[in-house]
Amino acid sequence: MVKVTSYGAAQTVTGSCHLLKIGSIKILIDCGMFQGDGGSKKNYEPFGFEPSDVHYLILTHAHLDHIGRVPKLIKEGFKGKIIATEATFDIAKIMLLDGAGILQEEYKTISKKARRRGEEDSILEPLYTKEDVKKVFAKKWKTLQYYEEHKLKQHITVSFGNAGHIMGSAFVMIDYQEQNEHKRIVFSGDLGPKQRLIIDEHDKLDRADALFIESTYGDRLHKSLEQSIEEFKEAVISTLKDKGTILIPSFALERTQEILWLLHEMHGSGELPKCRIFLDSPLAIKATKLYNKYPVHLSDKLEYLSGRGKDPFSFAWLETTTTRNQSMAINRVKERSIIIAGSGMCNGGRIMHHLKHKLWNARNAVIFVGFQVEGTLGRSIVDGQKSVKIYGEDIIVKAKAYTINGFSAHADQKDLIDWIGTANNLKKLYLIHGERDKMEIFATAIKNRLGHESHIVEHGNSITL
Ligand SMILES: [Zn+2]
Repeated sequence: MVKVTSYGAAQTVTGSCHLLKIGSIKILIDCGMFQGDGGSKKNYEPFGFEPSDVHYLILTHAHLDHIGRVPKLIKEGFKGKIIATEATFDIAKIMLLDGAGILQEEYKTISKKARRRGEEDSILEPLYTKEDVKKVFAKKWKTLQYYEEHKLKQHITVSFGNAGHIMGSAFVMIDYQEQNEHKRIVFSGDLGPKQRLIIDEHDKLDRADALFIESTYGDRLHKSLEQSIEEFKEAVISTLKDKGTILIPSFALERTQEILWLLHEMHGSGELPKCRIFLDSPLAIKATKLYNKYPVHLSDKLEYLSGRGKDPFSFAWLETTTTRNQSMAINRVKERSIIIAGSGMCNGGRIMHHLKHKLWNARNAVIFVGFQVEGTLGRSIVDGQKSVKIYGEDIIVKAKAYTINGFSAHADQKDLIDWIGTANNLKKLYLIHGERDKMEIFATAIKNRLGHESHIVEHGNSITL
């Protein structure tokens, strides 16, 4: 008998964690962190299953909402093997280490405040530390190429297809025998849109008797990538021509490399007015190196460049700043410039001090290239607030804010349904990784286009396939 139970990303978009049981074999697909409102407390709750009973952990990709509870899983007794693509293995390491640094910093700030109020007892230890991350990578790992089959047990194999979401991202195919019949269950992980800027687009599905598909943007269509690229270029060129400085709050993984590639192309074609460009994020600098490590996963044009010894993410005007002092020194730069720094939603990181120094000037611009969640500083600026608080200081916002919507790393409704349409033999369809209301819209759209019924997965409810 085959059973699937979701312990995260069931009617939410974070905390991905799905337990698959085939006979006596237990396989966990992702072990992600809950993020956003109320998410942090949920990470401390019990998993809902016994970690020491799980035989395999399969990771779809290295975003923290898919890997952030792996250290906790190991602390609580998981002894099995971890399976992922090679790129996911490498990226997971830098993402978890960076995450540990942030958690430890947050812990220091929170505990200081709590001590002042005499509430030490309420403080939760950091979810994981750098030491815990080391233990994750001391475990037994098996890295797989796309479509390489790995036998878990007689009659049970796992393989990956390219999900086109970020470098190394995969959808997971589990093949097994049931009453002498071959069956396949597929987990989409996060699926990228059909058109990608720097990595290969997702592979088609082949056989999928049962499919668990993410539904983050199952309710909507994205703007086209071409249109977004044009909007981005216009915003860059007009600000620089106006002698302004551009701030780009950017996510370290994928989005930063996309922006670097676009600026590289603009530089090469002569479109980019003379300026200095700073990549001011240690994590993004490390991630970019890993994008260069796997040229085979880059889109054809970038792979070709890389094959000729050219770095797609580097060019003459780009400077990388790793230390805090180098970052602070950017504040004294007089020439017009472009500063790419995290965090992507301006709720921490080096972008904060750049915003503090640049927001007051109407010549400057902030270009948002990713979604800004409600309650973040980024969202306040996008929403047109006249003044914002940074490091306790009121800062007047005069800089222009541009929002470029079409750089999503997630497939929209059309791309998701097109992808489902490539499945052979599909009998059962389950929606995960999305908000309930959006999933209902998605389910109706799937029914209208493909005629498939879909089931919205509930947290903790076991599904028998
Ligand atoms: Zn993701």
